[in-house]
Amino acid sequence: MTEKQPIFILPENTERTMGKDAQRNNILAAKLVADAVKTTLGPKGMDKMLVDAIGDITVTNDGVTILDEMQIEHPAAKMMVEIAKTQESEVGDGTTTAVMLAGKLLENAEKLLDMKIHPTVITKGYNLASEKAKQFLKELSVETTPDKEDVLKYIAMTAMTGKGAESVKEKFSEIIVESIKQVQENGNVSLDNIKIIKNKSNGVENTELIKGIVIDKERVSIDMPQKVQSAKIALISDALELKNPEAEAKISVTNPEQLQDFINREEDTLKKIVEKVKSSGANVIFCQKGIDDVVQYYLAKENIYACRRVAKSDIESLARATSGKIISNLNELNERELGRAQIVEEIKQGEESMTYVSGCENPKALTILIHGGSEHIIDEMERALKDGLGDVASVIKNKRIVAGAGAIEIELSKMLRQFANTLSGREQLAVQEFASALEFVPSTLAENAGLDPIDVLTGLKSRHDNGEKYAGINILKNKIENSLEEGIIEPMKIKMQAISSATEVAVMILRIDDVLASKSGGSPTGTGMGYPGMD
Ligand code: ADP
Ligand code: MG
Repeated sequence: MTEKQPIFILPENTERTMGKDAQRNNILAAKLVADAVKTTLGPKGMDKMLVDAIGDITVTNDGVTILDEMQIEHPAAKMMVEIAKTQESEVGDGTTTAVMLAGKLLENAEKLLDMKIHPTVITKGYNLASEKAKQFLKELSVETTPDKEDVLKYIAMTAMTGKGAESVKEKFSEIIVESIKQVQENGNVSLDNIKIIKNKSNGVENTELIKGIVIDKERVSIDMPQKVQSAKIALISDALELKNPEAEAKISVTNPEQLQDFINREEDTLKKIVEKVKSSGANVIFCQKGIDDVVQYYLAKENIYACRRVAKSDIESLARATSGKIISNLNELNERELGRAQIVEEIKQGEESMTYVSGCENPKALTILIHGGSEHIIDEMERALKDGLGDVASVIKNKRIVAGAGAIEIELSKMLRQFANTLSGREQLAVQEFASALEFVPSTLAENAGLDPIDVLTGLKSRHDNGEKYAGINILKNKIENSLEEGIIEPMKIKMQAISSATEVAVMILRIDDVLASKSGGSPTGTGMGYPGMD
């Protein structure tokens, strides 16, 4: 008999974790991610201060921002971060809920694994529970219509409760609802049409909605008017310069007159540009490219306000706001193509001068100008505002809302338990664990507010058993109440998405029983967070 040679199928530096170890490590990593954001959930959730490598500070309560800034390295943990990002891009809110739910699903799965239940049974049960939960969710949701403004305002306020914008949430919710209603077209809202501009000057309460676009550009020359009333706006994508100024050309002149003649002709061409603008009736120009000095001079003489090198996205927003058309060839410019606004004005606020295009009639793009005393505050305001915008847009689209403050989770959990009882076999246990994972939302809401989570859970459950489908724990009053009546309401879409993506990632992680990590491609042990049991 010859001695067996070991056979290597993987490169030498590959780290391999298999079977139970792989599973437990992944679950642990995912749980750590969920724990990291858990304390921020709900109105009384705490903030986190994140300091990046170069010392920049972010103070936030926003799940996706926290996970983004944490620079997580563990592969399973990264998958958790991905669901926060999906949640953010799909619905713009509910990131903490989605991540926490995924973490809890995995934690509960571990209990089942301990009972020697095979992962495929668990994943099958989870998938089944997720499908059922979404069906129940639809049944429990309440229909609304876009013209119910108070509903939309409550949606926005619920989204912003406990964020940095708490003190101004009424005002913000009005701004949010008004802006979404203005830019929506047949129930479709593109949030790109709501531009958010930040200004570090006076207090947050001065945050304003501008029926038009604010761009961070000043007029090209101080000889131009600083303010134009009844603006007729030309939006030009091409340069207002002589063509090909970079191209090298050789001009032979034999006497001074010829040279003068050449210069005159150049000036004539530039003057013609201004004449064309003037004859169209425009008194304001936004140009995506450069404007020649000579053109600037003559425009100023004609009292025309002009900005150059305006971002393409701003030009497009201006077109939607002012109903103007973007012109590439000056010869096409005429009065019909011009955009309209009541006022175009350069305003200096703090250190910066900006151009306000305001008073547009029926603008399809507009601007929210956030004021605030410091950058950290303004940034957190912006995140709160975006949560509100995302939620209201979602309700305009889907027209379905659910009761917040844990009400929907408790009712779903109750219905899933009843459903579990109709099942035979081990999947039943998985469905039950899924149901119990949902309760983690209200219990965390309570815990974060310093309430006893068990008391709150039992209280909520007994109210739901008595048929109070919408009973939730109002954290602002520390009382169990009808969330719908209290205006603690959320878009159904948030919960739908959170359940889908949490289940997906939990199932994906549970199915892994072998981790092969090549050392060069980043360490699987997650140097950043130091996961126990991974080295
Ligand atoms: P997420 O990132 O998941 O959106 P949030 O920190 O925004 O996390 O918290 C959302 C949760 O807070 C939702 O479950 C919502 O119902 C709940 N909530 C909002 N307002 C209240 C309130 N007044 N009382 C109790 N819960 C509330
Ligand atoms: Mg939220």
